[in-house]
Amino acid sequence: MSRIVVIGAGVGGLAAAARLAHLGHEVTVCESQPQVGGKLGLYERDGFRFDTGPSLVTLPQVLRDTFEATGGWPAELSLTRLAPIARYWFADGTTFDATDDLDDFCARLDTALGPGNGDDWRRFTARAERIWQATRRPFLESPLGGARTMAALALRRPQDIAAIAPATSLRTLGRRYLRDPRLRTFLDRYATYTGSDPRRAPAALAVVPYVEQAFGGWYVPGGLRVIGDALHQRAIDCGATVLLDAEVTAIRTSAGRADGVVLADGRHLPADAVVANVDATTVYGSLIDCAKASRRLARATPSLAGFVLLLAVRGHTPGLAHHNVLFPRDYDAEFDAVFGSSARPVPDPTLYISAPDDPAVRPDGHEAWFVLVNAPRHGAGPGAVDWRAPGLARSYGDHLLNLLADRGLPVGERVLWSQTFTPADLEERTGAVGGAIYGTSSNGAAAAFLRPANRSPVPGLFLVGGSSHPGGGLPLVSLSASIVANLIGPA
Ligand SMILES: Cc1cc2nc3c(=O)[nH]c(=O)nc-3n(C[C@H](O)[C@H](O)[C@H](O)COP(=O)(O)OP(=O)(O)OC[C@H]3O[C@@H](n4cnc5c(N)ncnc54)[C@H](O)[C@@H]3O)c2cc1C
Repeated sequence: MSRIVVIGAGVGGLAAAARLAHLGHEVTVCESQPQVGGKLGLYERDGFRFDTGPSLVTLPQVLRDTFEATGGWPAELSLTRLAPIARYWFADGTTFDATDDLDDFCARLDTALGPGNGDDWRRFTARAERIWQATRRPFLESPLGGARTMAALALRRPQDIAAIAPATSLRTLGRRYLRDPRLRTFLDRYATYTGSDPRRAPAALAVVPYVEQAFGGWYVPGGLRVIGDALHQRAIDCGATVLLDAEVTAIRTSAGRADGVVLADGRHLPADAVVANVDATTVYGSLIDCAKASRRLARATPSLAGFVLLLAVRGHTPGLAHHNVLFPRDYDAEFDAVFGSSARPVPDPTLYISAPDDPAVRPDGHEAWFVLVNAPRHGAGPGAVDWRAPGLARSYGDHLLNLLADRGLPVGERVLWSQTFTPADLEERTGAVGGAIYGTSSNGAAAAFLRPANRSPVPGLFLVGGSSHPGGGLPLVSLSASIVANLIGPA
């Protein structure tokens, strides 16, 4: 049996802890906050229960695998398939529903956008499926090997590289297959699911809409936070110890190998291996001295951040689905505001509203709205915004309410109370540097291969979670936990 310390109880940390404890290791999780879950956050007030992070589960088989591999599916967790997955609203008044039945979705596109758009999407989906088949095993489910991973992909099936088109952006791929600008906008949106700009993100991100449609979009009754609680319980049931209010201030090494951590209260926990679920920038920037990894990370573009507006709403809103995406007139202006050198809160952002029709998350006769818009990260200097500036969060929240009214959702008068969470708040609550949701973005052809590997350059130190390979979002983070557990192996 090896002693393993996991730093951070986000989804990746908890999933890794459960897997490693199940494999027979003595696992201790150190979480700096008084609660687990990290970005999978919860805000409760007056009978309302809001998820403050994820609101959509995709690739449910990955979640299933995490639990099946550690003792079985938990009774308290159920998954509900969403129909539709989301309702899309365009600035010209067009709307359509995205569903997980390809024929049905294509028929909806023909009706909403005009004949031929369904066939365009069908051809695009065939290409996306080829990319999925080519990347799933060697890339998403395997440890990152830098150029070796590229070579492995090329040698296995050279034609896969042609499908992946590594030098092509998602935007360019979309233009090749999709004629209607609204359908292109719909595709562009998926780049943001990895925190990226569709004009610079690789065409390989075509797998994101593909997996959403092929495997469905899912909800957890009671809110997605239930997943975090179930993972916490599973780690404990497998024998892990979870310490709360236990901030790690340093990873110790001896003879070049990680051999434990130091806590803020001065305690030292010895370990045979350390698994860091903390943002990789923090791991290499301040927890351990690894200048090469730190320099490499500094070359990548940080992912976008998010501004969250929670609304406790009286009454019922006709026409609103569970998930809704309201696109602005000028989508590129949004990416310029988020990723440009003169970053600023996006004046006319895409508005995402999640309003689950779930009695467990709102009092009778009310709705719990989670409104999320893309935002530049928090900080000083080019590319960042000081989200702590007095009055900014409040005035931007009010601005979003006005935009909702402009788009036919004049919810303001029915709002009992609201709550904002800025990128600065996310940084404070989870340690996400600048509140960047996904660590580094996928902007640039090589970005995915520059993402920190799960096996760090320091022997005995492993990285798990959204800022490391294979990336952010609940399924990929859970895959990173599986990769790390396989790298460490049984006790
Ligand atoms: C607003 C928002 C919406 C999202 N929507 C979706 C969605 O719909 N679907 C989806 O799949 N994903 C979504 N995501 C992404 C998803 O939430 C994340 O990718 C995932 O939860 C990150 O998990 P993680 O393992 O990287 O850990 P994190 O959540 O980053 O947790 C890291 C943990 O480490 C702790 N920690 C940090 N520093 C220390 C230290 N020094 N010592 C000890 N502990 C420390 C933190 O407190 C935290 O608990 C969303 C995220 C956000 C913020």
